[in-house]
Amino acid sequence: MAKLPGPLEIYPLLPGTNCKVCGEANCMAFATKMAEHTVKLKACTPLYEEQKYAKKLTKLEDLVRPPIREITIGVGDKAVNIGGKLVLYRHDLRYSNPTAFFLDISDNLDSDGLAKRVKEIEDWTYIYIGQNLRLDGIALRGVSKDPKTFANAAKKLIELTEWPIMLCSLDPSMLAAAAMAIAHKRPLLYAATMDTWSEVGEIAVKHGLPLVAHTSGNLNDLATLVTTLRALGVNEIVLDPGTASKAGLGTTVDNFTQLRRSATVADNELFGFPLLSTPISVWADYQDGEAPELTKWDEVLTAASSIVRYSDIVVLHSLDMWTNLPLTFLRSNIYTDPVKPVAVEAGLVEFGEVGPDVPVMYTTNFALTYFTVESDIKQAGVNAYLVVVDTEGMSVQSAVAGRKLTADKVAESLQEYGVADKVNHRILISPGMAARISGETEEATGWTVKVGPQDSSGIPKYLQEGKWKEE
Ligand code: SF4
Repeated sequence: MAKLPGPLEIYPLLPGTNCKVCGEANCMAFATKMAEHTVKLKACTPLYEEQKYAKKLTKLEDLVRPPIREITIGVGDKAVNIGGKLVLYRHDLRYSNPTAFFLDISDNLDSDGLAKRVKEIEDWTYIYIGQNLRLDGIALRGVSKDPKTFANAAKKLIELTEWPIMLCSLDPSMLAAAAMAIAHKRPLLYAATMDTWSEVGEIAVKHGLPLVAHTSGNLNDLATLVTTLRALGVNEIVLDPGTASKAGLGTTVDNFTQLRRSATVADNELFGFPLLSTPISVWADYQDGEAPELTKWDEVLTAASSIVRYSDIVVLHSLDMWTNLPLTFLRSNIYTDPVKPVAVEAGLVEFGEVGPDVPVMYTTNFALTYFTVESDIKQAGVNAYLVVVDTEGMSVQSAVAGRKLTADKVAESLQEYGVADKVNHRILISPGMAARISGETEEATGWTVKVGPQDSSGIPKYLQEGKWKEE
């Protein structure tokens, strides 16, 4: 693994004034957080504002630059960052910048067709453990083969959406026309090849745009192409080593792995750029409407394999719920910080029309636990209060074992959220998994603790039968 700098390497390059502008108590605290990658260098504004720190800044930027360069596509709130990876394996630290999903639109659609497809892409969403799973960008394909049509479609697109755009054509004249039209929106250009590097590279340099370097599976060619583009002045490159499905998928996975390993383990700067895969290529052999339904399976399988193998951006065609749901789940799981449990905010949640005689339950702020309990209470159709105790994102069983869920914490939560003032009883329903602290909880709170179901699926029946009120 490429060596990540520690606080003692970072600290001497900071101003050392302990001015607290970055929000930290002193420069060493900032250096420690930099080493943990929980703050950005830009937060130390004196480094950027005062000329006397210019040399230190240059050295620091070199020191903390991730092995995989971070590239921004688009502008404003919807811009997406890709790359910026620090490690090969997630368990070595964490992954940043989740794989971006770009869905295609053909440039030969009329205005209504473009608007309809944009809306479908933007509207695709699914709520998963409190997260709003979404797609990220639009890949405009120059199927018309006409530069003017391509440029007009690009212009229309930026009227329809703020989402980041990728301009896709292997014809330099097409890319030149569309880049001229929407360069201010910072699209990603796709792509320069061994045949077109000079013309396409110049378009990227002229407009200051990120550019995809594409070869068809040959990594030596890709290395040559990247070297040439950099010599031309292209600094923001995305690597596309070619994406094959079915029998060729194994080679694709090998290529992606070699590229990322080379950049992060062997410190090969030449391949230190984000990776792009094109599962959409499974449709290439078919005319519109001719592809068998199983083509969608191929696309999902190819996309899933490339997401697992370091792809920073994937280009897709299918827009069904069932095709993108497993892919967005997969992305969410891979990009969740393994040392930071997914948590919801602690507090008091009301269900239905609460009054002084409704049941009071408690649970932990582990997201998966919370959303399961929330769903079960809603299913019961019963009015209730739910106290969400801050257990640093741990589930009930783990939190009890790790002393993150204690009788005192439950008592503090009841106090903090003023629950005693809201109800006319003193009965608290505890999770079944917290039964072992029920005695202590009665002592700490002064409330009677009723142990609820072991599994939250038993909550609806438990609440509907009103057993919590029984003596
Ligand atoms: S802003 Fe910079 S100089 Fe000031 S305390 Fe933070 S790291 Fe140190």
